[in-house]
Amino acid sequence: MVKKYAPNRFPYLLLTNIGQLITLRGGVTPRRGSALKEIGLIEDAAVLCGGGKIISAGPERGLFLDPWVKKNRRRVQELDCKGGVVLPGLVDCHTHPVFAEPRLVDFEKRITGATYEQIAAAGGGIRSSVAAVRKASGKSLAEKVLDGFNGLLRHGTTTVEAKSGYGLSTEAEIKSLEAIREAARLWPGTVRSTLLAAHVVPPEFAAKPDDYVAKVCDEIIPLVARKKLADYVDVFCERGAFTLEQSEKILGAARRHGLQTRAHVGQFTPSRLNGLLAHKPASLDHMDCVAAEDIAALATGDTVAVLLPGANYFLGHREFPDARRLIDAGVPIALATDYNPGTSPTPSLPFIMSLACTHMKMSPEEALAACTVNAACALQIEKQKGSIQPGKDADLAIFDVKDYREIAYWFAWNRCVEMVVGGEKQPLTSDLQ
Ligand SMILES: [Zn+2]
Repeated sequence: MVKKYAPNRFPYLLLTNIGQLITLRGGVTPRRGSALKEIGLIEDAAVLCGGGKIISAGPERGLFLDPWVKKNRRRVQELDCKGGVVLPGLVDCHTHPVFAEPRLVDFEKRITGATYEQIAAAGGGIRSSVAAVRKASGKSLAEKVLDGFNGLLRHGTTTVEAKSGYGLSTEAEIKSLEAIREAARLWPGTVRSTLLAAHVVPPEFAAKPDDYVAKVCDEIIPLVARKKLADYVDVFCERGAFTLEQSEKILGAARRHGLQTRAHVGQFTPSRLNGLLAHKPASLDHMDCVAAEDIAALATGDTVAVLLPGANYFLGHREFPDARRLIDAGVPIALATDYNPGTSPTPSLPFIMSLACTHMKMSPEEALAACTVNAACALQIEKQKGSIQPGKDADLAIFDVKDYREIAYWFAWNRCVEMVVGGEKQPLTSDLQ
């Protein structure tokens, strides 16, 4: 990927004066059960990066005694972390950044008592974002996506999964995926892209949803695969969106065309998961409603349950995903923002961690692992991302707090002050052009 930053004149970057380094190193991935609490804390630490990778990470005293570091100090740029907390760059494994406008009408309707399904039935919801995306130029969409990515970066995220899904026509879905690709080219972080043509049935197919499913399977998926515009195919398996049978067809078509799969399922109503699990999805997302009979299959498989409490918060739900039930049963879980204009307009994984602690009874350690190492597993890039270990990508987030638990504690207060992506310090401004 072409990056716009000039090559750094220092080949190495050394982060010093780290009060707490949260490495998330070691262990079997994805993390399950009590392993989710192992965050690999090192106090008074330093991290050396070079060639875009982590070279070493450990106690600062040890690092300064290293003969190589002593000899090469002049080639090393130093970044003083001022006693703060350093995390692996956060991984946001579920976002919908390709939209043109905020959905303020839906927001106000909900305040006066309308439900998600009532708003959708009245022409609001996902469908109300479609007209604006179809009308928008590819360039303006790419700018919106980049704006979203920069918001994520300012809150500590360096890797993001980005979905299409507000186009719902061949042309507008391709345009959306191209906007993701263009924004990814201009953004320093890493992007995994997902085709979500099966977000809802578009208005012109309202009377014949199976014809739209056929179009997704026979036209859109093959074209996206041919153009190499997506890593994954996703589907919204839910009452009012796509049935389980339709969802399985779509995931089957994805696999036949060499694309990986993931699915939105169980946000409002439960669906049995074995049919979806047969397509080996990297993740099943939302999972507010999970049947007891599916827990064992989830606990023994590698599909990650991605929980999205930002949507519960913004929809004003009293209930949140039952993280404790899943974690205690050994199901690998991750957390994500679900950044989107209708149900979760936040770029902040630290806020999502806070919700996970206060409303889902996850510990701060579990929340950290769910936004780093397990989120990397949900995107099948855990060999490069999600922990601070020699050989992994040098993506790091620096917070001006003394204790890692403060990241979830100071809710809606962004304490992320510095970002390092690919071994280079990033300007945290909105203008990366
Ligand atoms: Zn979503």
